[in-house]
Parts: sequence; C-alpha cells; structure tokens
Amino acid sequence: MAIIGLAMSNFFLSKDVFQAIVFARENSFAGVEIWADVPFCHPDLFADKEREKLKKILTENELVYTLHSPLFGIDLGSVNPGIRKESIRQTKAAIDLTKELNGEIVVVHPPKTPSRLAQVKEYIYQLAKEAISEVNQYGKGKGVTVVLENCGVDFNDWEENLDDFLSLVEGCKLDVCLDIGHAHCSWGIEKTIESLREKIKCIHISDNHGKKDEHLPVGMGNINYQSILSYLKNFSGMIVHEIQYYQNDEWGTKESKKNLDKILEVVTSN
Ligand SMILES: [Zn+2]
Repeated sequence: MAIIGLAMSNFFLSKDVFQAIVFARENSFAGVEIWADVPFCHPDLFADKEREKLKKILTENELVYTLHSPLFGIDLGSVNPGIRKESIRQTKAAIDLTKELNGEIVVVHPPKTPSRLAQVKEYIYQLAKEAISEVNQYGKGKGVTVVLENCGVDFNDWEENLDDFLSLVEGCKLDVCLDIGHAHCSWGIEKTIESLREKIKCIHISDNHGKKDEHLPVGMGNINYQSILSYLKNFSGMIVHEIQYYQNDEWGTKESKKNLDKILEVVTSN
C-alpha cells in the first residue's frame, strides 16, 4: 500500500516548514516532501537549531519523508561552469541535510538546454552526466538515494522524449521520481511507468489536461487513473500530492487527497 504525502511547495509563501507539517498531520497525510529550497529550508539558510527541531518533529509524528533539492537557478548540466559548480555544491548540501534528518531519498531535476540542436544536447548530456553522477556517488557515500524526476514539459527542458530521459537515468545509474502530471503532458503515464518500473522510488501526483503542467488537484484534469490503478495501489513508496492551487492551497491539497483516496479506496482514521 502506497504512503500518501504532500509536498511543502503546495504552501508556497503561505506556510513555513513546521506549519506545513502540522497541516499534513491534521489532514491524515502519512508523509511530506521537504522543499530544501527557499522559502522553506534551503540548506544554506536552514540553521542547526531548525534542523534539530525538524528532525524531532518528523520523528515524533512518525512521518515518512523525502527531500526536494534546491531548484531555483539550479542546473546540473549548465554550460556556465560557475552555475554548474554551484548547482553541484547546493545539491550536495541537500544530500547532507537529508542525511542529517535520517532521510533516504533526495529528488533532483534533469538539466535545461538553451537549444534543441543535436550537438548542443549531446554537449549538455556529457556535462549533466558528469555532474549528476558526482552527486549520485556523493549520495551513495552517505546512504542517500538520488532520484531523477521526469520533467520534459517545457521547451528548455533538456529531455525531449522518454529515450532522452532514459539515457540520463542509465548513464548516471540513477533511480527515479515519477511525476505523473509531467508524464501525462509529455510522453504518457503508462509508457513512462512501463519503461522505468523498478527504478521508481517515489511518485509526485497532480492533474492536468494533457497539454501543460498545471499541477491541479487530482480529479480536476483529465488523467485516467483507472489505467494505472493497480500500479498505484501496489506502489510501496510515497505518493506525494504536488499541487499548485495557490488561489486556495489548503482546499486544493485536501481536495486532491480526498479524490485520490477515493480512487485508491484508502480508509483514513479521521
Ligand atoms: Zn514533481
């Protein structure tokens, strides 16, 4: 049975890390994805005292958790050497934070590309492969699993198709965070699951209409959950509601959970 969690980023600038955890507990989420970026707990800004407090709260509440590494301005395949170096440093700092919190999984994103010319993509592939392999090795040394999230939804996302994504996953010997919303508006959910199956260690879920990455609550787009129902029901990791319904973030997160629980026939205690 999958563990149902929420992403802290659902409450961008409306809750802090601790308030997001209180909301998770009060609404029967069994886990959280910790946003290790601004405005929650960027590793460079999150003080030792806050780290201790977070670790204590996670343990006391018996929450399952994953971490999302810094995202804003980060590009592990950047052609700019300074940005690439800084991206590696901040990703390693997120791995250190994961280890400190006794977490097991940290999510990273594929690189961006300024052009889809084959020679540019190949050049970035080599840079990203080296950088992501480095952070993956660093994670392994700390007992933290680095997972690569499928994006492929914007023109400047490096991975144009599933084969591109697979080449990076295999080239860096990585596990994966399956983003169901991203898969729906890029290469198809079933095809993506089929190709990555045993590599998938955590799942992001949100809905959309198949054209753009809307991050709507489950049930508000046109994803056919029946086609992936048995996969979701039998998934042993965490399924994280990653909703960007900022006009009413609490409602959006609760609605998404309510609808997915109904689809998965989850029985909750309150
Ligand atoms: Zn995601």
